[in-house]
Amino acid sequence: MPRRLWLPSGLDERVGSWTADFIGAVSNGGCHQGDGVRVCSQASLPQSRWAAALAEAGLGFHSEAYSWCVVFGRYQVRELLSRQGMHPRRSLGQNFVVDANTTRRIAQLAGVGPADHVVEIGPGLGALTQALLETGAAVTAVERDPRLIDVLKAELEGSAVTLVKGDAMHLDWNGLLGQEQWVMVSNLPYNVATPLVVGILEEVHQVKRMLVMVQREVGERMVATAGGQAYGAVSVKVAYFANAKIARRVARTVFVPQPKVDSVLVDIHRRDRPGLEPAMVSYEELCKVLRAGFAHRRKMLRRSLAAMAGPEVFAKAGISGEARAEELDLAAWGRLAAACTSDLLNPEPGRSR
Ligand code: SAM
Repeated sequence: MPRRLWLPSGLDERVGSWTADFIGAVSNGGCHQGDGVRVCSQASLPQSRWAAALAEAGLGFHSEAYSWCVVFGRYQVRELLSRQGMHPRRSLGQNFVVDANTTRRIAQLAGVGPADHVVEIGPGLGALTQALLETGAAVTAVERDPRLIDVLKAELEGSAVTLVKGDAMHLDWNGLLGQEQWVMVSNLPYNVATPLVVGILEEVHQVKRMLVMVQREVGERMVATAGGQAYGAVSVKVAYFANAKIARRVARTVFVPQPKVDSVLVDIHRRDRPGLEPAMVSYEELCKVLRAGFAHRRKMLRRSLAAMAGPEVFAKAGISGEARAEELDLAAWGRLAAACTSDLLNPEPGRSR
């Protein structure tokens, strides 16, 4: 594991005089030529500029002995975007974290280290990616915006990251992740956060845990329990596959551009077995009943499920037809879906559907 050396922030803003400061910081940090050192700073200068400055100072560091860990601040992100002629795209949920304490805290909360395979959706400008790499984890990052892929390649040069250009919503996840176990750590694009999390729980079994940053309301929906205001079909689906909780709130001020909403980090641990026995009811049947039940969440279930459940189904499930969707926990939804399914397979004599 290379030693880490943090440089004073703002160094790069004094281009012209920073070489001496940099060399000073290297020496004060007790680093010697050939040491494995990861240099971390708030700088926006590319590696080639640092390397040239070092060579100019006669230090002749080997680039392979150094990995460069550039953590962007607000000023650098704006500057980098304008240098690239880029405007963040709202359609891609591009709100970049510009606070190194936040990204490092996320990596710490994720509890990942050198033994872990980490997948990140939407590395953006690489702020969180860098914090994850700092833990020693191997990181695979999937980015949809080709403009950012070029920036990432330049900024993360020499680090243990695998960059994948692609749309996480339509990726061959099994081909990418293989047989390993993975941890997903991401600041998700907000507009597709729910389908991404649910889709990964449903289909990408290699992902054993996730720590994801999402819009606060979305996160509250994912972890909600029966009876709560945020409780919905998504809460039941997440509970089917995993135990989930809010790990932390994140203020909107750490992003550029600043979103109109606050965010939360959601910690999701996949269960060893689904929350309902597949022999009792399939996930597909559960989803059908959830869809109909939550279509009118405040209606009595005997009305919203009229097309699929008569009084005998409610009696069999031990649930009142006057209950509302938001009152049923996962086990109750399981009983109701199982009763609907068995009623469809074995309708009462004389009753047609
Ligand atoms: N990780 C960066 C950070 O924390 O600063 C950026 C996070 S930003 C909220 C979301 C990122 O996801 C953007 O870089 C965006 O281009 C990318 N993105 C959006 N939709 C995507 C998709 N379907 N697949 C992969 N990446 C996507």
